[in-house]
Formats: sequence, C-alpha cells, structure tokens
Amino acid sequence: MLVKEIMTQPVYTIDQNKTAKDAGILLRKIRRGFLVVTSKNRPVGVLSDSDLIKRIIAANKQPSKVKIKDVMSRHFVSTTPDVDILTAVRKMKKGNVHRLPVIANGKIVGIISLSDIAKTSPEMVNLLEMRLQMKEEPTETMTEHTSGICDNCDNFSDDLRPVGGSWLCDSCREEAEAEK
Ligand SMILES: [Zn+2]
Repeated sequence: MLVKEIMTQPVYTIDQNKTAKDAGILLRKIRRGFLVVTSKNRPVGVLSDSDLIKRIIAANKQPSKVKIKDVMSRHFVSTTPDVDILTAVRKMKKGNVHRLPVIANGKIVGIISLSDIAKTSPEMVNLLEMRLQMKEEPTETMTEHTSGICDNCDNFSDDLRPVGGSWLCDSCREEAEAEK
C-alpha cells in the first residue's frame, strides 16, 4: 500500500510570518497538534503544540510578539506520495514522530499518521512492527534525510544534510563537493 492511498487532507497550514498566538488559536480551532508552516504556499517548516509549549510558554515569551518562523522546526522528516507505507513508518520511527507531511514537487499534498495507518489496517501495524524489528539497522543519525529549505539555493528538498554548518540539498552538496 502506498502513502497516497491513505494520506489525509486537509493539511492545516499557517504562514511563517504569523505569530505564535495565531498558531495557538488555529491549533485549538482545528483540534490538532500540528501545522505545516508555509511561505508563499511552499512548506518551510513544521510547528507542533509541543514546540509552542517548549519555545514560548516555557521560555516565558509573549505569543503575540513571536513570529512562527522563529519558533518552528526548520528541518523535519517528510515523505513523498508514491512510497510504500513501510518506508513511511520507518521514517517516522527514525525521526521519532508519528506523522509526516507528504510533499510532492515542493508542495504539500497530505499528511500521513500512524493512526491513519492503524485505522486503515490494524493488522498492518502489528506486521509493520515485526518487520521493523527484523529489519533493524544500526542507528542512523537524525541528520540524514531531513526535509526543509536548502541554506544555499533556498529550494525545498527532502534530502537536506549538514555540510560545514549549513543544511544543503543534494545538488548544492554536489557543487560544494566539486569545488573542493
Ligand atoms: Zn540547494
């Protein structure tokens, strides 16, 4: 089964220049714990209610004075619509998250969560657990296959990696490599 077969919509988004207060209001209204942050309709980050708690409330900041772009997570794990569910679950596991934005050609097209998978096919969750355990690989670092905006070319990539303190997409990494 592919991600696109069970991903859900709508995806709730919010512009990065809105405030943390706006995000809090929207999260309450939609009764979700998670928003995709956009700039000109392009995904540039994610924001969860725990980000707000950690970075605003615990940091004693005023939500109406903090822009979302200053508290969102710029690097996140995402998936594409045409991969199989097992791959998506492995990404969730690796990134320690239970939902992934689904991104195609730099546009957000859906959300897939563990609970969607469980709803569609409860047996599959058990099966996945087993297969995941069997396929357990040496722990990969969280820095691999991270989505976000490339620090160099400013384009969205689902394969950002840290190079000398910047997060670069695959083509910028090739350029950096060629210059050496
Ligand atoms: Zn780049």
